Amino acid sequence: MNNTHFRQNLHTHTQYCDGKSTMEEMILFAIEHGYSSLGFSSHSWQPLDTGSMTPDSQKKYINDFFALKEKYGDQIDLHLGLELDSLSDENLRKSGPFEYMIGSVHYLNAKGKEMAIDESREIFESLLSEGFDDDIYAMLAAYYATVKKMIEASDRRGFEVVGHIDLISKYNEEETFFRFDDPEVLDLAMDAVKAGIDRGLIFEINTGAISRGYRTLPYPHPALLKRMADAGAKFCISTDCHNAKDIAQSYEEAIRLAQSAGIDTFYVLAEDGFVPVKASTLL
Ligand SMILES: [Zn+2]
Ligand SMILES: [Zn+2]
Repeated sequence: MNNTHFRQNLHTHTQYCDGKSTMEEMILFAIEHGYSSLGFSSHSWQPLDTGSMTPDSQKKYINDFFALKEKYGDQIDLHLGLELDSLSDENLRKSGPFEYMIGSVHYLNAKGKEMAIDESREIFESLLSEGFDDDIYAMLAAYYATVKKMIEASDRRGFEVVGHIDLISKYNEEETFFRFDDPEVLDLAMDAVKAGIDRGLIFEINTGAISRGYRTLPYPHPALLKRMADAGAKFCISTDCHNAKDIAQSYEEAIRLAQSAGIDTFYVLAEDGFVPVKASTLL
């Protein structure tokens, strides 16, 4: 690992799941944008998610990864990972030579039915009205309880990174549904965050919704980010990229935003696991 300058993105999606680009296109863009390290985090198999990898495509994903590592390994460090949905099977870590996993909640159980939080605004609104009788606080409480439950199982499930912790705010750019600095909302989020801090998990600062035009700021929102930083959370920077051209979307802005919340140390994946580096190394 080059300590003078190190740029890494561990949250990327390719054609193996719901991404637009091939793994090779992603690697070439990453090299072009000065990345020293790139990880692939295809969606693990989850029956409700038609964009997730089947066990067969997961095998191909693994084989193709190692072929590309052979081809480009002298130009960029490549890491094999998964984004583990909270509804995926347990023990996926053991289903392949995965170096890291990102645990993420994308579905919420409302009145016995699992519904996607982030698929479309229409689905989000029907989840709120049908699932929670238009009570946004009940929905936020259920969401963060789901995140907390996933976090509490992190050891068993084998993930180190918590993906986009406030994904529930995807359609809330204009604060249509709740205020970002509402203490009641922040307390709900922090209850889940504290479970992650206790377990030494790393939280993403995730710019994915910016490239897709939903948000102008990364997850977590600065109001939550500040609370998390004050509580001693660990962070990494990722772009949750679904298209090679977005590989570096808002990367530097995300670091500067984090710095203004008092965060100057970020975690990156090295040969033997996650290690802390200073922001200046990443910029
Ligand atoms: Zn995700
Ligand atoms: Zn993702």
